[in-house]
Amino acid sequence: MPDLAFQPTRPIAYGRQHITPDDVQAVTETLYSDYLTQGPKVAEFEEKFAAYIGAKYAVAVANGTAALHLCALALSVGPGQRVITTPITFSASANCVRYCGGEVHFADIDPETALLDLGAVRRLLESHPKGYFHGLIPVDFAGLPVNLEAARQLCDEFGLWLIEDACHAPGGFFTDPQGREQRCGNGQFAELAIFSFHPVKHIATGEGGMITTNRRDLYEHLLRLRTHGITKDPAQLTRNDGGWYMEMQELGYNYRMPDMLCALGISQLRRADEGLARRRQLAARYDAAFATLPQVRPLAGAPGHAYHLYVIQVPDRKGLYDALREQQIFAQVHYIPVHTMPYYQGLGWLPGDFPLAENYYAHCLSIPLFPTLTDEEQQYVIDCIRAFVER
Ligand SMILES: *Cc1c(COP(=O)(O)O)cnc(C)c1O
Repeated sequence: MPDLAFQPTRPIAYGRQHITPDDVQAVTETLYSDYLTQGPKVAEFEEKFAAYIGAKYAVAVANGTAALHLCALALSVGPGQRVITTPITFSASANCVRYCGGEVHFADIDPETALLDLGAVRRLLESHPKGYFHGLIPVDFAGLPVNLEAARQLCDEFGLWLIEDACHAPGGFFTDPQGREQRCGNGQFAELAIFSFHPVKHIATGEGGMITTNRRDLYEHLLRLRTHGITKDPAQLTRNDGGWYMEMQELGYNYRMPDMLCALGISQLRRADEGLARRRQLAARYDAAFATLPQVRPLAGAPGHAYHLYVIQVPDRKGLYDALREQQIFAQVHYIPVHTMPYYQGLGWLPGDFPLAENYYAHCLSIPLFPTLTDEEQQYVIDCIRAFVER
């Protein structure tokens, strides 16, 4: 390693939440209010989040995984249903189908972006009779928005529904052929989109998630599913015994997001654009630094990239990962391909099934990217990577 003037004063992880005194105050106010769980902050967070994303409706839920589960339920996933997703994602994108008894299928990725390759999805669809597959769950991986208009066309052609896993991309957008910016999760193309508020995500509430949609029927169904399948809405009751009366009309869950976490979400949402701008600025600095380092290949960028992750590919990934750890830099790997997980291998998937995803996995590393990463810390990360690849 070269003589590095800068020494970090804290370990530098690949992602990190940013909590301000305003956030703390928002939570404490709720703690002293009448509601710890289903109070006014839930609806306020839903309205503000929907407005930010540009969708009609939003439903706050316990976490991103619960969001996926409820979406799969709302779209009637069950035994005999076959759903396609990407091997390069967090396993929850696939697991939601399994929770409902459906079958998970995969298609390979585009190696330039690590997103699900819609060409590969089309080949998979064409190799089976129409009606064989029921749904598609693409992921805005690392924050790079999927071209959802193209995904929608493909789904319409083959009769599939579409859930956008937008956990990495609140505030991200792709540009449609008319030149309009289409925000991730805006409900224009996918029936449903989901977000997570896990600490490493753009908006951090500890645990928390959101579903967005433009479909009123799905919205109302999700509200019931989130709370045991129970409704109190007089218009939906089959009878009415009095003021206390409510009905459990179907099997739902307790997937509610508490009021105090919604208050934190509202406070974080105010800074969402600021955080996004900083993420893009840091990503541009990485791009510039690695443009002169041929051994380091970043994933493709785009103007609407939300930069949840900054992923590079290097020949000796394990070596770099270990060397960075010694320098107090805690990079991470996103993701171990889902189909190679023992659980999915138990369902019949094998290493070698998706060679592009597996090759990507062999070389990828997510390096530190979060709004409070300082310029000096980032330069240190760059210097350490350069020293390793040029050693
Ligand atoms: C974080 C994440 C999830 C799950 O969200 P949780 O809130 O952790 O349950 C699902 N999909 C993707 C792509 C994620 O990054």
